[in-house]
Amino acid sequence: MNFKIAVVAGDGIGPEVMEENIKVLNAVGEKFGHKFEYEYVLGGGCAIDKYGEPLPQHTIDVCKASDSVLLGAVGGWQWDTLPGDKRPEKALLGLRGALGLYANLRPATLHQALAGACPLKPELVADGVDIMVVRELTGGMYFGEKGRKMTDMGEAAYDVEIYAKEEVRRIAKRGFEIAMQRNKHLTNVDKQNVLESSRLWRSVVLDVAKDYPEVELDHLYVDNASMQLIMRPTTFDVIVTSNIFGDILSDEASQMTGSIGMLPSASLGDGKLGMYEPVHGSAPDIAGKDIANPIATILSGAMMLKYSFKLDEEAKAIEDAVTKVLEQGYRTADIYSEGMKKVGTKEMGRLIRENL
Ligand code: NAD
Repeated sequence: MNFKIAVVAGDGIGPEVMEENIKVLNAVGEKFGHKFEYEYVLGGGCAIDKYGEPLPQHTIDVCKASDSVLLGAVGGWQWDTLPGDKRPEKALLGLRGALGLYANLRPATLHQALAGACPLKPELVADGVDIMVVRELTGGMYFGEKGRKMTDMGEAAYDVEIYAKEEVRRIAKRGFEIAMQRNKHLTNVDKQNVLESSRLWRSVVLDVAKDYPEVELDHLYVDNASMQLIMRPTTFDVIVTSNIFGDILSDEASQMTGSIGMLPSASLGDGKLGMYEPVHGSAPDIAGKDIANPIATILSGAMMLKYSFKLDEEAKAIEDAVTKVLEQGYRTADIYSEGMKKVGTKEMGRLIRENL
């Protein structure tokens, strides 16, 4: 099969980790008989330097016309003094909006070889952590009405948590569909004992559940969910939740995995077009030194194969290759511990290709 992929490598370590991602994808293409065509476009600080804006229209057009988008990372100290809407990070929000991406997927997978880097007691994670947080990305309190007003307690500020039924329905559907692709267990997280918006959320989730009888559905209030995540992390499969709860819970879950250099993510809309990127930023402190961990970006490439192209076997080949390299004791500096074999960005990429 042929796939057209837009590549926004970005700034700092973005281009370095992206290069390894592309080489791994090409190796997968060769092995399984697919052709990936890449179109490189500018976004972030490098686009500001060349075009005076972080997200040129050309970049949006190319991304929209592609089957999927790969993003490295954007930002850096050179652009830190620019006003908010001119900053490199504008490229991320702008692309998510322009591409209609409303579902954010953040997996938290603890590789057994890195179990020592997990801050939880070994017995709590002995069965392996493999959680997928599906977070609503374009609604709720972060985008609701906000403002200031005077009250009898003085000046006050407010941010409105608001969800339309259709917004909940589409993210709930995504949650169930992803559960169907995994272990068929979905945990809905809300706060329906207190919030009206959560009561509507829960009723829509229950309604959507009727179309997915194979999925085991349970519900947790967000405060309880944050406790259960660290008490029994191995019992979770997919979590679906609102923008603000997902923001917090996905960061909590990610801490079980060892390093920010291990965390991929995906942003999806209605069609197959998605944007895949590591969770980390452009890490200007280590850029250009061949020491950045490329695994988060390479695993984002695997997510693209699985969720945009439905190439499950190919995605698993990448995930298995990463696991093997870690089991062989190879580590980039961020996940290094005594007795392991320290390698750079390029060498880590090469080892993953070798293990495919
Ligand atoms: P960061 O994620 O870039 O770095 C935080 C720390 O983690 C640094 O010490 C860095 O060296 C380390 N690190 C990050 N990725 C790593 C990797 N792959 N391998 C090894 N170590 C890694 O966050 P920051 O320092 O707060 O931000 C730097 C710039 O990135 C800022 O301009 C920020 O706005 C931007 N940023 C961009 C994104 C994005 O593009 N999605 C996300 C977060 C921050």
